[in-house]
Amino acid sequence: ILLRSLLNKKVPLQLGRCYSASSVPTTKLFIDGKFVESNTSEWLDINNPATNEVVGRVPIATELEMLAAVDSCSRAFHSWAETSILSRQQIFLRYQQLIKDNIKELAKMITLEQGKTLADAEGDVFRGLQVVEHACSITSLMLGETLPSITKDMDTYTYRLPIGVCAGIAPFNFPAMIPLWMFPIGMVCGNTYLMKPSERVPGCTMLLAKMLQDAGAPDGTLNIIHGQHAAVNFICDHPAIKAISFVGSNTAGEHIYERGSKNGKRVQSNMGAKNHGVVMPDANKENTINQLVGAAFGAAGQRCMALSTAIFVGDSREWLPELVERSKSLRVNAGDQPGADVGPLISPEAKARVESLIQSGVDEGAKVLLDGRHVNVKGYENGNFVGPTILSGVTPNMKCYTEEIFGPVLVVLEADNLDEAISIINKNPYGNGTAIFTTNGATARKYTHEVDVGQIGVNVPIPVPLPMFSFTGSRGSFRGDTNFYGKQGIQFYTQIKTVTSQWKAEDATLTSPAVTMPT
Ligand code: NAD
Repeated sequence: ILLRSLLNKKVPLQLGRCYSASSVPTTKLFIDGKFVESNTSEWLDINNPATNEVVGRVPIATELEMLAAVDSCSRAFHSWAETSILSRQQIFLRYQQLIKDNIKELAKMITLEQGKTLADAEGDVFRGLQVVEHACSITSLMLGETLPSITKDMDTYTYRLPIGVCAGIAPFNFPAMIPLWMFPIGMVCGNTYLMKPSERVPGCTMLLAKMLQDAGAPDGTLNIIHGQHAAVNFICDHPAIKAISFVGSNTAGEHIYERGSKNGKRVQSNMGAKNHGVVMPDANKENTINQLVGAAFGAAGQRCMALSTAIFVGDSREWLPELVERSKSLRVNAGDQPGADVGPLISPEAKARVESLIQSGVDEGAKVLLDGRHVNVKGYENGNFVGPTILSGVTPNMKCYTEEIFGPVLVVLEADNLDEAISIINKNPYGNGTAIFTTNGATARKYTHEVDVGQIGVNVPIPVPLPMFSFTGSRGSFRGDTNFYGKQGIQFYTQIKTVTSQWKAEDATLTSPAVTMPT
């Protein structure tokens, strides 16, 4: 333990600021049913992205604290797995009601720590709530299969059973929805759960944990640790953890997939994106422009399903001036201000990175149709704001196209026909989401069949599937073979036991050994 603690200390800290004492509120750990102060000497600031004021501190949990959290999950597992499925369902039925009752409080916490507008933060909670509501159908979702009379008097049936302690590692951009993709599905299947929220936005997960406790989840069924790389490596290495759900960047996700898999764990890893919206000349112009503007700049472009790239096919390129005008009308402001459309980016580093990617586009020959780099947000001069930005004349070799920008920047390419647009998209390494805008059914059908992307919208800009389906990003946006939530989510968090039994009415005694393979 000591050796690992020492090794962990060598890992560079992403945010770089550590304090041992401060007057701002501290984020607790949640271990064995108690919200406890960490004993660590390493803390990170949590900043309000609209002002950069420090609004809290989050601990880098110590090795002993992380071990205590997994130990608690391990001890709670057997009784939780044996708790009747109806009891688990009742807890999650109460849980969904508590989330619904507290949606505004959760949204306020999201806006404070993450920056998105209050209305968007409510959407963040709502999309997670839908997953919890779906988890309440566990009595149907966990049904096994049966086949009677495999041979005379012999039946085969399967049980779907939990796998043990599972863990979730979440990103900053959906502080409610993404943790709610993870622990409710894992737990309702009978697993216990270790959660590591993003160190930038831990507050919402802590509120969600308190509500789950209030809903009746027994001590130890959910534990929460905080930290960065060391906590992530701890999760990848601990032998008691059987499965890891990760959502975040490719750098982290590929590392976690490889390290976790090497240690024999199941890993599902949802990662970065570059989502293309294809605009056909026959599309409904008004609708398409509104959808593009909302999906490119909503949440300040910090959505993995943001439509960050538009391909205008043929004459639709003439709509660009209107796209620019509509984008100008969005109000950039702090997320808690009435009428705000576009909030700040998560950090000054994110703002600097987005601005440098805009500049790289200019340097490589793109044209800035709308420049949000010097946006002035009155009263919030220290915030991490970038206004809606549109780069046209972009080509697939430019850095602003090859990198995920994760900011309010729409890069615009042009194509002569649909085949050319599909070819551009299929050459891009990511496969998270895409959309086509058209009024032609045959065009839409060709697109949905030929484009190699896991989630497709037809006149729907952000096609995130509802929880009865699964989140099916593909290629460079996903590693693993079983997706988040829906039927696949249940598969990820369960294992199958298959029983074959023979009950003969008459005396079944064999008269000689059966040495050949039964057929
Ligand atoms: P991130 O990868 O920086 O952080 C995600 C988690 O991994 C955090 O808990 C963090 O502590 C940890 N982490 C960060 N760097 C690490 C490293 N080098 N090694 C080990 N652990 C590390 O991601 P983020 O900035 O919080 O989120 C934005 C990214 O997430 C974007 O790329 C976005 O596309 C992606 N995302 C994907 C989906 C999806 O479903 N495909 C959904 C939301 C966000």
